[in-house]
Amino acid sequence: MAITGTSNLHPLNSISPPDSFSAAQRLSAIFEAALDGIITIDERGIMEMINPAAASMFGYDLSELIGKNVSMLMPDMHARQHDQYIQNYLQTGHKRIIGIGREVEGRKKDGTQFPLRLSVSEVKTDGRSLFTGTLHDLTVAKEAEDRIIRLNAELEKGVDQRTEELAGAVNQLLNINKKLEHEIQERRAVESALRHSEQELRRAYEKEKELSELKSRFVSMASHEFRTPLSAVLSSADLIEAYPREDQQAKREKHTARIKSAVANLTGILNDFLSLSKLEEGKVGIQSVRFLLSEFCAETLDDLQGLLKPGQNIRHDMPPEDIELFLDKKVLKNIFFNLLSNAIKYSDAGTSIDCHIRLEADTLHITVRDQGIGIPQEEQQHVFTRFFRAHNAENIQGTGLGLNIVKRYIELLRGSINFESELGKGTTFRIEIPLAQTN
Ligand code: ATP
Ligand code: MG
Repeated sequence: MAITGTSNLHPLNSISPPDSFSAAQRLSAIFEAALDGIITIDERGIMEMINPAAASMFGYDLSELIGKNVSMLMPDMHARQHDQYIQNYLQTGHKRIIGIGREVEGRKKDGTQFPLRLSVSEVKTDGRSLFTGTLHDLTVAKEAEDRIIRLNAELEKGVDQRTEELAGAVNQLLNINKKLEHEIQERRAVESALRHSEQELRRAYEKEKELSELKSRFVSMASHEFRTPLSAVLSSADLIEAYPREDQQAKREKHTARIKSAVANLTGILNDFLSLSKLEEGKVGIQSVRFLLSEFCAETLDDLQGLLKPGQNIRHDMPPEDIELFLDKKVLKNIFFNLLSNAIKYSDAGTSIDCHIRLEADTLHITVRDQGIGIPQEEQQHVFTRFFRAHNAENIQGTGLGLNIVKRYIELLRGSINFESELGKGTTFRIEIPLAQTN
């Protein structure tokens, strides 16, 4: 190796070397001024050349290093093995570090260790090997790296912590949300219960109002409608008293018959009112029984005989084969009785009333037709309203309850009712009652 350590070299860091500088001088100047450390050792590990950067890197003066074994710059463990490395290499050519740069630990004069990057190259000169090590102090870089690693770890820890906090917050939010949803559901349930009870109260109130209105209308209707039969009862009773003799029995019987008919009339009104009250309160249930249509018709027509005006007759037309019905007989009787009694009541003596009954596809079709006074067109829409009485019927006794009850009964049987009427010509009521549903 041609370079030797020298102290009389010109400083290179400020000025360019004069042309007269030899190549050796130039190299020496570069060696002296290099920022990285450069150390040359012989085959035994003895340091021959050291530049100032290397010496200060280890905290030594140059003079303390020249001629010493390079192992003094290494931590104990490596120092012991270092001579062995060189010998191994020289004998086997097996490189551990030569030609390869690597990070190693250096040991300073004060015993502290520091990281450095070491690249070793071999120079063969005068038949012997010299090794040149270039050293770059990694303390600052390592510290920076450590700081980055530390910061990174702190950052990661921070991120983990934040993630955990966020997850906690999210969980809390989810819990709050769940609670809120639960509260909302509870509130909705309470609201709907309140609405429901409010509706119930309103319905009860409406019903109460309707019932009291019904009662007051009944009282006014009854005071009017009861008067006629009651005065008939009174006058007949007076007349019975006026016929005390034995031979006047026939006259007395005529008046007892009038009394009976007036009482039947009153009973009819009271029954209607009772039916209506029960219907209003929803107390009427259907109680189906089996009975023959022919027998039912005979009974009903018989009941109506007493109401017929002179010359009036009911022409009935029924299916030829007898039919067994399964229906609420009392309800059906009430329907027939109301429609036929209206037909009798609102038509003149000497007219005919037609009653047709036929069965079609499990539905009972009933038609009641009269040739009576008819219902004025403009009043027809009120026919099923309770207490309704058409103007042309004012002089005929009635409470206006019959058809309202009929309609409700038909609804209970899931049937339907409609009518057509022409003033002065007559009225036809049509009913359909499904049999299958009531069976
Ligand atoms: P109730 O039947 O309670 O004794 P009402 O006959 O007056 O009294 P509905 O049977 O409900 O009561 O009839 C209501 C009204 O409809 C009657 O007042 C009458 O004006 C009219 N009406 C009902 N049926 C007939 C009919 N066949 N012909 C003409 N008008 C009728
Ligand atoms: Mg009637």
